[in-house]
Amino acid sequence: MAFQAVNPATGERSQEYPLHTDAEIESTIEAGQAAWQQWKNEEPENRAACLLKLADLLESDKEKLARLMCDEMGKVLKEGLAEAEKCAWVCRFYAENGASFLKPEPIETEAGSSYVTYRPLGLLFAVMPWNFPLWQVFRFGAPSLMAGNTILLKHAENVPGCADAIVRLIDEAGFPTGALASLRVTHDVAAAIIADDRISGVTLTGSTRAGRNVAEVAARNLKKTVLELGGSDPYLILEDAPLGQTVEACVTSRMLNAGQSCIAAKRFIVTDKIYEAFTRAFTEALQKKVMGDPRHESTDFGPMARADLRDTLHKQVESSLQKGAQLLLGGQVPPGAGAYYPATVLTDVTPGMPAFDEELFGPVAAIIRAKDTDEAVRLANQTRYGLGAAVFTADTAFGEKLAAESLEAGSCFVNDFVRSDPRLPFGGIRESGFGRELARWGMHEFVNVKTVYVK
Ligand code: NAP
Repeated sequence: MAFQAVNPATGERSQEYPLHTDAEIESTIEAGQAAWQQWKNEEPENRAACLLKLADLLESDKEKLARLMCDEMGKVLKEGLAEAEKCAWVCRFYAENGASFLKPEPIETEAGSSYVTYRPLGLLFAVMPWNFPLWQVFRFGAPSLMAGNTILLKHAENVPGCADAIVRLIDEAGFPTGALASLRVTHDVAAAIIADDRISGVTLTGSTRAGRNVAEVAARNLKKTVLELGGSDPYLILEDAPLGQTVEACVTSRMLNAGQSCIAAKRFIVTDKIYEAFTRAFTEALQKKVMGDPRHESTDFGPMARADLRDTLHKQVESSLQKGAQLLLGGQVPPGAGAYYPATVLTDVTPGMPAFDEELFGPVAAIIRAKDTDEAVRLANQTRYGLGAAVFTADTAFGEKLAAESLEAGSCFVNDFVRSDPRLPFGGIRESGFGRELARWGMHEFVNVKTVYVK
């Protein structure tokens, strides 16, 4: 048994990465624990220095890292470079701000002194997905390491080279050996690791199904858990939306990473008066996106990460068409090698169709007609997910009111597409998960918020 990447552009297989043996797992957990004993008492400035070095290494290695992601999961090279740079950003952000997020906070009581202090929890188990194979790990890893925790990474089966590259960077950056180690294990073994007394917390970024399974095991073992799961983000296009910039933001969001982003725009809910104009301009813009070899500069989007994921997406499209959706663009699996799927536009999408009810994890846009703003908001919230949402309107104040008060999601943007930013908390509600990553909130998920009271 082994993990192996299959280049989704060519079908070529990487070397095999054997699963870790029981003895290797045991020694890795021990090393992670030992690293924590040392790291938890390290001065914040020393932790920050390792993160700064890590940021430099991510930047100097970005071409190699982008090539690796391209080969393992089909990410276009220019997006891979941007991903490595964003990882450097999150490392620097926590190097610069982490100590202040961890600073004890005095609380006035009748005591001589009382305050809250933030202490690391211990060795954390992180289950990560393939879609942003570096970013997802660093988004969780940078604040957790800065807080004094250590990490056992179980990365997705199809990106074993990325997992190894991350461990190498951590080691080169000067963290203690075992501060972040990777384990290639089956789901059953992952459950046993979660149950291990030496694991203090669990995080999973991935599908809702995986989140449910891992959270069940974590709950049974009373482990603190953060879940970053799927989404079906609604983008509301109101009748006064400035068409050019709205279309550009919507296309960018839907097509990033060949549509395989949790916070991609997935349901475009367009009010009656702008429906025809938006649909035409959006489809024209999407049609111009070039699908092709992810290594080529001129390519806008490459293959999907795996053929089975492409086939699932195609089934969702076909089932939506059978239920009455209309196909304006794409919708056919191209002949030839590679897990390619074309940019696809479905219109007349309504509740009850997979394109409305489920997450479309690929380059397929679902356009939904709403008679007015009230109906648009109702349709936006008619989902079991709640990760991100966006609203486009010339009336920014009204858009802000909708974002702040009406849309039910973890991140609501006005006149721009949803994206993660180290300075802002990120996470979902409902089946998109619970807990937050990034900013101060992300760092405080895996700490002991400890009360100290001195009479
Ligand atoms: P996935 O199939 O759920 O896999 C994610 C990770 O979970 C992989 O490492 C996978 O391991 C592991 N896993 C799955 N079931 C498990 C179990 N029972 N026990 C232990 N580990 C388990 O998801 P994906 O297809 O890779 O990623 C796409 C999904 O992730 C989408 O739904 C997307 O929206 C979501 N996502 C969410 C965020 C966010 O921040 N909210 C970010 C990115 C992606 P194997 O590879 O070994 O099966």
